[in-house]
Amino acid sequence: PGLLTLVATPIGNLGDLSPRALEALRSADAVLCEDTRVTGALLARHGVSVPLVPLHEHNEAAQVPRVIGRLAAGEKLALASDAGTPLMSDPGYRLVRAAIAAGLPVTAVPGPNAAVMAVTLSGLPPHPFLFVGFLPARAAARAAELGGLRAAERAGLRATLVFYEAPHRLAEALAAMAEALGGDRPAAVARELTKRFEEVRRGSLAELAAWYARHEARGEVVVVVGPPAPEAPAGEAELDARLREALAAGI
Ligand code: SAM
Repeated sequence: PGLLTLVATPIGNLGDLSPRALEALRSADAVLCEDTRVTGALLARHGVSVPLVPLHEHNEAAQVPRVIGRLAAGEKLALASDAGTPLMSDPGYRLVRAAIAAGLPVTAVPGPNAAVMAVTLSGLPPHPFLFVGFLPARAAARAAELGGLRAAERAGLRATLVFYEAPHRLAEALAAMAEALGGDRPAAVARELTKRFEEVRRGSLAELAAWYARHEARGEVVVVVGPPAPEAPAGEAELDARLREALAAGI
């Protein structure tokens, strides 16, 4: 059978295309990509010429059976998005699921991912983290999704949260996060990662919301929000247990 290879590409700095990623693209029978112009330009930079097949949000459902047919016939196909790791807020999930269901081999060449890079630079606990991706653009739907996350936190979820956001919506998204999750939550906005004007701004959600209400964000951004502070005062049973522990430890 053929092979589907998910290939991570740079998120801004072209130096981040790995030798193995380049080889996977070069040796593919065809490269499935979000935007043939973007991937075509990347390949052209490296003197690579491979047939490109568009696979994006709007045609993924229709393309999947065709692609599965090609893989079943023995072709080696690569999947690349415009930037970063395929499937991560990018097309490909349906294809991967279909390939697995058809018993076809799938592999990946790992590489750049804005969410992971933002988490590692945020100064916030790296795990557990919850990758939310893009919130809905409309205020009501966004508030509902944030409300759901807050409810999960009330029920015990304690994770660092990671959001992708469009720069022109950053200020209102931060305000909505502060409102739903709490303005005192530690957070970070990671902007233009791997690029010339890379910047990570850290502060509480309220501080970051206030900053971006006054300063226009340019370029691409990831918002990272630290986990909520431990819940309310400990109950009596817990205090007893802690006291016993402390006595046993001879404190
Ligand atoms: N698949 C990509 C990945 O692995 O990171 C993400 C694709 S998603 C369509 C694009 C979003 O990712 C942007 O709106 C932004 O939130 C984030 N992003 C991508 N590149 C970035 C960068 N260089 N700096 C900061 N955020 C970035």
